[in-house]
Amino acid sequence: MKQFLYHRPTTVKDLVETLMELGPSAVPIAGGTDLVVQMKDGAVAPEHVVDVMGVPELRGIHAGEDGAVRIGSATTLKTLMESTLILDRLPILAEAARTMACAEVRGMATIGGNVCSAVPSADMAPPLLALDAGAVIAGPLGRRTVGLGELFVGPRRTCLGAGEVLVELSVPRLGSSWTGTYLKYGPRGGMDLAVTGVAVVVSWDTATPARVADIRVALGAVAPTAFRAASAEDVVREAGVVDERVAGLCGEAAEAEAKPISDIRASEAYRRTLVRVLTARALMTCLHRRDAR
Ligand SMILES: Cc1cc2nc3c(=O)[nH]c(=O)nc-3n(C[C@H](O)[C@H](O)[C@H](O)COP(=O)(O)OP(=O)(O)OC[C@H]3O[C@@H](n4cnc5c(N)ncnc54)[C@H](O)[C@@H]3O)c2cc1C
Repeated sequence: MKQFLYHRPTTVKDLVETLMELGPSAVPIAGGTDLVVQMKDGAVAPEHVVDVMGVPELRGIHAGEDGAVRIGSATTLKTLMESTLILDRLPILAEAARTMACAEVRGMATIGGNVCSAVPSADMAPPLLALDAGAVIAGPLGRRTVGLGELFVGPRRTCLGAGEVLVELSVPRLGSSWTGTYLKYGPRGGMDLAVTGVAVVVSWDTATPARVADIRVALGAVAPTAFRAASAEDVVREAGVVDERVAGLCGEAAEAEAKPISDIRASEAYRRTLVRVLTARALMTCLHRRDAR
């Protein structure tokens, strides 16, 4: 690996200023489980790495007064999985984190590093998209918030500009009655990047619990970026209910929206089938979870 200088600021202000001073030869590092692999491969060769883990503001999970849950970008997947706030309010995020890597990697890897890696298969992206999460970004001009979908510009490309870092992911308050799930297919069932990942969140009508108030479907690893499958959502909104037939139609609509490629892990056709099957299955899981409550 090419030699580099290591920097460890302790405030967001210092973090941004350090990145601005060092310019394009510097990159932020969090857990390093993605970046260091790339550095060893020679895919990237920064002269400076700027550690975000020493900034307390970037760590931890908090409930805001507006009902939102704010997750610091440098929060590890282990912390996420063990957080009572997450298990109680946003269990789909713990469910997704559990599918990732192994205990050792999850103890280092962060939620912010996962989304900022912007790989199409990043497992936290679909559930965060389905939760309508916003990304709070700090940079030389102050702070701004974008929808998570806007953060992803292309494979391994985000909308972050010079000196900008991801501060936190903010999940707005959901209705009082919702269920969700993240289903991932990887051939070995562990230590696998997603061949396809599907997140579905259904808000149920509180007055008529059998009816759908809203739905969000997000797909990973089947397009250049993770994305919301709008026409699959429309199928369910128009039906107003969830059953096997609607789940099948929703899966077909998601399949039509996916733009997978063939690569070493799966063919385009196989990924399309997975999108259809997993989307339908995820929707039925949401229904069963509602009935089980
Ligand atoms: C054995 C192994 C198994 C894995 N399995 C999975 C898996 O199942 N699913 C999966 O999705 N991934 C997997 N990964 C990839 C990786 O572990 C995850 O993407 C992880 O969440 C990355 O987080 P990190 O903190 O290590 O990021 P880092 O490697 O530190 O950074 C990743 C990228 O994000 C940028 N970055 C980090 N933090 C910020 C910030 N706050 N602001 C701006 N930019 C930032 C960095 O500059 C870098 O470009 C695996 C990796 C390994 C080594």
